Amino acid sequence: MTRILDGAAIAEAVRGEAALEVARLEAAHGVTPKLTVVLAGDDPASAIYVRNKERACREAGIASEVVRMLSPSREELLATVRRLNQDPQVHGILVQLPLPRGTDPSEIFLALDPGKDVDGLHPENAGRLLAGLPGFVPCTPAGIVEILRRSAVPLAGREAVVIGRSEIVGKPAAILLLRENATVTVCHSKTHDLAAVARRADVLVAAIGRPGFVTAEHIKPGAVVVDVGINRCTSLDDAARFWPGDDGRQDEIRRKGFTLVGDVHPAHAMAAASAFTPVPRGVGPMTIAMLLVNTLRAARLAAGISVGA
Ligand code: NAP
Repeated sequence: MTRILDGAAIAEAVRGEAALEVARLEAAHGVTPKLTVVLAGDDPASAIYVRNKERACREAGIASEVVRMLSPSREELLATVRRLNQDPQVHGILVQLPLPRGTDPSEIFLALDPGKDVDGLHPENAGRLLAGLPGFVPCTPAGIVEILRRSAVPLAGREAVVIGRSEIVGKPAAILLLRENATVTVCHSKTHDLAAVARRADVLVAAIGRPGFVTAEHIKPGAVVVDVGINRCTSLDDAARFWPGDDGRQDEIRRKGFTLVGDVHPAHAMAAASAFTPVPRGVGPMTIAMLLVNTLRAARLAAGISVGA
C-alpha cells in the first residue's frame, strides 16, 4: 500500500500554528504581519494562486494586499518593489511568477529588501541558504522538507534525487535535503540516463514542469516520491492513463476543461512508491503555508524579535 503524504492536512496544521503565533505577536507587541503580493500580467493560474494566498493570510490573521499591474514596464516594477521596501507596514513582499515576457525576474529579485524577501529569491537569501546561515528559504522547497519531516520520512544517509534545478524549487530543495544529511543528486535536462539515476533514490523529488513525466522506470520500488509539478491535463485519454478506474478526473475535465496532474505519473507512483505526495493536495498547499511562516518571520525580525534558523 502506498502511503499518501497529505500535504493539505499538514499545511492546515502549519497554518494553525502560524495563526497562533500571529495572535501572540499582536498581543505582545501590537504588530500585525503584512504580506504584499505583486501580481504583474494577466496569467489566470497566477490569479488563482494569489487569491489562495490572500485567503490563507486572512485565515491566519495576516494582513495582505495585492498590487495588480497589468503590463508594467521593468522600471514600473522596480519602482513598486522599492516603494514596498520602504513601507514599514509591509513585512513581506512576494513577486508572483511568471513575470510578463521581457522582464528579467532576477533583476526584480535583486531589488527586493532581503529582509522582506519571503520567497527567498534575493541572492543574499540564496547565499545564506548555501552557507547554512539563517535567512528566508523559498516556500516550495521549505514545504517539501516540512512534509517529509512531519511524515517522519528518514533523510539522513538516504539517497535523494531531485529532478529539476530551478532557482525556486530544484536547487534550494537539493540544499535543504543536504542540510538534512541526505546524499543528494540533482538531475536536469542534460542528465544522461535519467531513469537509472532517479532509480537510485530513496527519496525522489520531481520538479520538472512536464505532466506525468516520471514513470515506473524512474522509481525504485519502495521510494518516497515528492511530486512538485502542477500541470493542466486537458485530455480525457491522458486522464484515463494517469488515473485508471477513476472517472472523477475525466468528469472534472468535462466540467472545467482540465484537471491538475503533477510531474509524476500518478498510477505508476501508486504502484511503485512507498509514499507519494498527490497533486493536488500535496506540495501546493505547503507552499502557501510556508509563505505564512516566512511572513510571520519577517514581521518578527522587523519588530526586533529573535527568530530561529
Ligand atoms: P523550471 O524553472 O521550468 O525548471 C524545470 C527543471 O526541469 C529545469 O531544471 C530543467 O532542466 C528540468 N527538466 C526539464 N525537462 C527535463 C527532462 N526532460 N529531463 C530532466 N530534467 C528536465 O520549473 P520550476 O519553476 O522549477 O517548476 C517545476 C514544476 O513545479 C512545474 O510543474 C511547476 O508548475 C511546479 N511548481 C509547483 C509549485 C508548488 O507550489 N507546488 C511551486 C513552483 C513550481 P534544465 O535546467 O536543464 O533546463
